[in-house]
Amino acid sequence: MNVQLADLLLAANQTYPGSVFCLFFFTDELGLEEELLPVPYDHPSANKRYIYFNDGMYRLPSTVRDSMQAMEPFKSSFAWKVVREFFRKPEYHEDESIHSFVSRRFGDDLARYLINPMCRGIYAGDSAKLSVKSCFSFLPEYEQKYGSVAKGMLRAKSQPPTGRLAKNFKQYKWSMYSFQRGLGQLVDRMEEVLSEDDDRLHIYKNKPCTKLEFKGDKVQVHSGDEKFEVDHVISTCLSKYLASMLPPEHSELSSHLNSIPAVTVAVINLEYEGDELIPVYAFGHLVPSMEESTKIMGVIYDSMLFNEHNSKIWKGGTTRVTVMMGGAWYEEHFGDPDQANKQEMVDYSVDQLAWQLGFQDRKPFRAECHIQKECIPQYLVGHSQKLDALDSYIEHHRLPLTLSGASYRGVALNDVILQSKIQVEKLIGKLSR
Ligand SMILES: Cc1cc2nc3c(=O)[nH]c(=O)nc-3n(C[C@H](O)[C@H](O)[C@H](O)COP(=O)(O)OP(=O)(O)OC[C@H]3O[C@@H](n4cnc5c(N)ncnc54)[C@H](O)[C@@H]3O)c2cc1C
Repeated sequence: MNVQLADLLLAANQTYPGSVFCLFFFTDELGLEEELLPVPYDHPSANKRYIYFNDGMYRLPSTVRDSMQAMEPFKSSFAWKVVREFFRKPEYHEDESIHSFVSRRFGDDLARYLINPMCRGIYAGDSAKLSVKSCFSFLPEYEQKYGSVAKGMLRAKSQPPTGRLAKNFKQYKWSMYSFQRGLGQLVDRMEEVLSEDDDRLHIYKNKPCTKLEFKGDKVQVHSGDEKFEVDHVISTCLSKYLASMLPPEHSELSSHLNSIPAVTVAVINLEYEGDELIPVYAFGHLVPSMEESTKIMGVIYDSMLFNEHNSKIWKGGTTRVTVMMGGAWYEEHFGDPDQANKQEMVDYSVDQLAWQLGFQDRKPFRAECHIQKECIPQYLVGHSQKLDALDSYIEHHRLPLTLSGASYRGVALNDVILQSKIQVEKLIGKLSR
């Protein structure tokens, strides 16, 4: 995994979201700088994205020059869409889908060919169901505050970066990053640092929490037959899993938690002998949901960006790609995730790439399929009301419980880290009062 998908739209906003800087600050603190693999903005593949549609690859506009011309399949240039949006009257909606917002402000073709595949890339979700308020809050905020998104982009102040790495991110125009051994290194290093610093800290592994009991201002945490008492619980697992741990007297809280769905994604990693098999320089391609010829949602051209992670066994190099399928369409396309036929999924991906990327009859020497069950929470229209209901329940019942993690206020890694920081600072503030 590398970090960039979720920042696509936010980066377009040029305000450099605090969440990116938070992650870099974090990397600095953990002493992971040497391990960082940044991809500069001017890397030939960094900012080029394609959509696969009608059996063809269409490059998405990525430069100022591109945005001046009408590139297929868009009916008009990006610049023209932005100018029109600038003068469009603002409307107030309590919440609406991302598709509805973008087609209302920028036109239906942008919503169909850019935003729809992008939402599949970021959320593995359906832009016609996802909430614009919860997924891309700056869009409706700019409409309300400045009268249009375009005006907002011109007038909104960028956040100054904090920390040396974050400054580099901005100064050297890094467009995305990973670590030498992948993003798992972040968690491994965090464990090392935390264990070094404080012998009061206990990290329990492979001990799933099965039940939480609230007793006065304490919480009893159960894991099977074992239990221990704590002052406060910060839950970062999927909201639905937390719901299953709560006692019957908090069934109302469980039902709010259960109302946030999550989708399953099939992730297929393929590696082929020979480098430069992919016919274009790009980050990858995405497929809009109306394309019926394929079940693939998107393909990342991993070896173009992070060839450090390639296998070293072939002299002529290798080509690595990650195929993603399923998401909001998982059950419709593949049925029950517990009954998944992984070999069929690998074979299907190989066949599709033969066609989509011109790999013809090449076969990968490495193929892995992982069914990531309920891995990406879906912020559907009305998500913010669910969050309000959760917060007020916890507040009203004075539960020593903090909700963090991807189910609530951001599904990307950067967002999850920033939100955790915010939640922990709030908690420390509360406890020290
Ligand atoms: C296929 C895919 C691709 C992605 N690509 C990107 C990307 O390119 N860039 C990006 O920024 N983000 C990406 N993400 C999102 C990223 O993975 C999430 O932002 C991040 O993992 C969320 O962190 P989290 O801690 O909230 O949840 P998780 O990482 O899911 O961690 C939750 C943890 O809770 C544990 N848990 C569950 N139940 C219990 C229990 N009962 N007791 C104890 N522990 C429990 C789980 O084992 C898990 O370790 C991707 C996600 C997927 C699925």
